Amino acid sequence: MPGSYHRPSRDPVAGPPSEPPVRPAGLPVAEARIYCGGDVTADRAARAGARREGMQLYNTMTERVERFVPREGEVKLYVCGVTPYDTTHVGHAFTFLTFDILVRYLRQQGLAVTYVQNVTDIDDDILRKAEELGIGWQELGARETAKFLRDMDNLNALRPDHYVKATDHVPEMLDIIAALLAKGVAYQVDGSVYFAVDADPEFGKLSHIPRPEMLPIANERGNTPDDPNKRDPLDFVLWQTSAPGEPSWESPYGRGRPGWHVECSAMASRYLGPSIDIHGGGLDLVFPHHECEIAQSENAFDVEPFARFWVHVGMVGYQGEKMSKSLGNLVLVSDALANDHPDALRLYLFSNHYRSNWDYQDAELERWAGVARDLAEAAGFPAYGVEIEVDVSSYRERFFNALDDDLNTPLAIEALREIGAAILEAPEEDDIRDAQLTLRDLADVLGLSLNEG
Ligand SMILES: [Zn+2]
Repeated sequence: MPGSYHRPSRDPVAGPPSEPPVRPAGLPVAEARIYCGGDVTADRAARAGARREGMQLYNTMTERVERFVPREGEVKLYVCGVTPYDTTHVGHAFTFLTFDILVRYLRQQGLAVTYVQNVTDIDDDILRKAEELGIGWQELGARETAKFLRDMDNLNALRPDHYVKATDHVPEMLDIIAALLAKGVAYQVDGSVYFAVDADPEFGKLSHIPRPEMLPIANERGNTPDDPNKRDPLDFVLWQTSAPGEPSWESPYGRGRPGWHVECSAMASRYLGPSIDIHGGGLDLVFPHHECEIAQSENAFDVEPFARFWVHVGMVGYQGEKMSKSLGNLVLVSDALANDHPDALRLYLFSNHYRSNWDYQDAELERWAGVARDLAEAAGFPAYGVEIEVDVSSYRERFFNALDDDLNTPLAIEALREIGAAILEAPEEDDIRDAQLTLRDLADVLGLSLNEG
């Protein structure tokens, strides 16, 4: 039927093709790959392989975009997870889905990624919130962790290889604390142990914050400058005596509980060893949390660097303010997904570069829902044509070049949309099967399911 197109709205009366179809109508796309034979995929992989120069990532440590060279085909990734006392909002989703895309992309390139994410299930915030609610801290942590995982599953996020709880790793934390005391960079007072920041001349090398400016920032983010046991108000707690009613563990310093920062040093080394490839988290964790992790791990294990790349994700605002419970301006993942497809939210989030700070707009989600529907339609459109093959290899190349360039998802999404448009706008007699496979392959790297559900 010359002159008609794959997009049904352009030709609503398009009937079945007069030529016998190359594959039976309705054959699922997954089987179409087998039907087409393996060489199509192999050829595309070879073309893609010839072009690659490797991935570039911005490293907070060096403040530059650098080439990421994997060690022996392996990537060890640690991402600081949630403190489970509140419900997942789209700012959390932006952070964790960034690493979901990074993992998918690295694996797509044939690298063996070991992905560890933690749950900070013992923390001042959890204890305070549990008391407010009149429930146990463990009950609160378990409930909120389950909700977080459900939200991430609904967003089609891959589960980390190791999803680990701080409270399961107290012995590893005590080992690190003992090593820091032995090295003389920590001190013990009345059952508490502190890291002496003055003992580490490199403290500050990640955040690049001048020493006089550190204290006010640390104080906004959990530091207790008035603790009379501290030699310096910037020293951070490794172990603390528990207040009455708080959970506690046995230790050589008396019963107590760990400081926040040492939890991540312990869990990263337990699952990935003392030196890792990529350490990630939200931008608000650079200082003091990640700075303290470096000080602990590099001193305790005598290793440098603790992490070769530090990757930080920008903050998402709403109505001109940082999203926060106290301002009441949270956009919850569960609310966003109540009306719109997970693909729509992913597309909207990653129409922003991961390092940007940006403001969430409700109307934008609707706009991206339309894009998600177009992509799903293009991927699922029945393919009967046998004439000219719709060639989308240049878009595929643009897609990978974009991700190679410090995970430039806005450009990658543009390439994906071009493939969708090429399929929908192709004359009906043209062969769109390879283009559809490419669309599904690339969408999967961004975690898009392309189902219309
Ligand atoms: Zn952490």
